[in-house]
Amino acid sequence: MLLLEWNDGTVSRYPFVWLRDNCRCRACWHPDTESRIALTADLNVDIQPNGITVSDDGAKVDIHWPDNHLSPFATSMLHDVRFEDEVPKKNIRMWGSELLEQLPTFQFNEIMKDETKLLNFLEDLRDVGLTLLQNAPAETGHVAKLVDRISYLKITSHGYIHTIKSMAGINNLAYTGHKLGLHTDLPHYRFPPDLLVLHCIQQSKIGGESIFADGFKTALQLKEEDPEAFEILSNTHCDFMDKGVLMPVGEFG
Ligand SMILES: [Zn+2]
Repeated sequence: MLLLEWNDGTVSRYPFVWLRDNCRCRACWHPDTESRIALTADLNVDIQPNGITVSDDGAKVDIHWPDNHLSPFATSMLHDVRFEDEVPKKNIRMWGSELLEQLPTFQFNEIMKDETKLLNFLEDLRDVGLTLLQNAPAETGHVAKLVDRISYLKITSHGYIHTIKSMAGINNLAYTGHKLGLHTDLPHYRFPPDLLVLHCIQQSKIGGESIFADGFKTALQLKEEDPEAFEILSNTHCDFMDKGVLMPVGEFG
């Protein structure tokens, strides 16, 4: 195991087999594609180096192997890829109803034009999981514009974007005026949605509020207060289905 001590006093560990497997020499690593050329199947999992040299400025570490292979590493790269338990935890924030007063709020037009505002928005989205964008034009098409700005649309069984409005002849409770309880959309997918973008174009005269909860906070609270219930809910397999009356094709926008 190679131990490296950084300027901030923290120490990172690198098993020798990991260093050989992640060798950055031109024979083992393709720099343009940033991909490994060496095959894992050829790896000797018991490998031990003959010698290790560190440059005077600490910027490079060379590992010398028994077969005369040399693995040159930039210590900055080793720092970037240090193991997760050595990396400071990100600033993930769990929340309850106090978020009502502190909900990260941005203006749609600023996000579309200003790189710094966009970064702030994305960081809040990462840390809190919920943000409010205000003053998007009250017409369709702006969800796609926002998503184009930050990522790309993923398709679901409802299409890329779908319009939810109260109407007759529907196949999902979302299209009724009934109140929906707290729920997670499409949790049974192999690729559940990472991010949902809801754009309210027309607020109904009565009701129509959106209610959110932090599922991680709720789960951790349940785990603490009722471990048995947490165990049942997290380990009992359930069948899910999304069924409704068959709709004519093209019924929804
Ligand atoms: Zn190599």
